[in-house]
Amino acid sequence: MRPVELDAPVEGRSGSRAVRVAVATLAVGVVATGLAHLGTSTSAAAPAPVGGTDTAAVGNRGTSVSRTSDRAAQTVQALAQTRANALDATADALATSREQSALATRTEALGKAAAQISEQSDMLKDQSSFLRPTAGKFGSGFGMRLHPILHYYRMHNGQDIGGTCGQPIWAAQDGKVTKVVPTGYNGGSGHNVKINGGQVDGVKLETAYLHMQKIVVKVGQKVHKGELLGTVGNTGISTACHLHFSVYRDGKAVDPTTYLGR
Ligand SMILES: [Zn+2]
Repeated sequence: MRPVELDAPVEGRSGSRAVRVAVATLAVGVVATGLAHLGTSTSAAAPAPVGGTDTAAVGNRGTSVSRTSDRAAQTVQALAQTRANALDATADALATSREQSALATRTEALGKAAAQISEQSDMLKDQSSFLRPTAGKFGSGFGMRLHPILHYYRMHNGQDIGGTCGQPIWAAQDGKVTKVVPTGYNGGSGHNVKINGGQVDGVKLETAYLHMQKIVVKVGQKVHKGELLGTVGNTGISTACHLHFSVYRDGKAVDPTTYLGR
């Protein structure tokens, strides 16, 4: 019945396995005696003479070994190829990621440079427009005038801004304090401060603050526009509490209202 049918091929395979084992044994030549007996058994499966079977067996074995070794070589080659491909892919990925990272770095640097340029541009705009250094109305302006105390015409090299003594004076520009004279008459300037704002559009811009009462900054100090310098006073040649504000372009006094607006 059915199980018998199923068993039959298995038996057949077992038989052919037995033949292969026998042939292999022959090929190796372990059993020298009883060759005839085995040969007979082998010839039953493959109708060839004993000698023929022996040769064929060796031949088959050799082919089989050679095929196996070919297959192994192919497998190794395939593995090596797979590994090489994987390495190539990794190298490509690394190169791409390095390029991307370099691009990202460059983009970031460009962004920073643009921001700096924008900041500098803002600063230049800001530097060329001064803050009104103290509260109060504009008094005597820049130019020749009959001096209220000296009673003769002479150059007034700044803008007077009225106010009350003790009110704050702020830096009109960003810069470095280059001069602080906290006491004395000083040729009529009284207590005074000078700030160097550095080069603005290729011109050295400085500001000076005269007739001050109290000074709270020191020479060499960096100040920002709007930073407290001291207070309005009535020192030097002055008829009332006020700030005399001067602006120098490359060392030459110019009309401060150009920078302050009216
Ligand atoms: Zn003045």
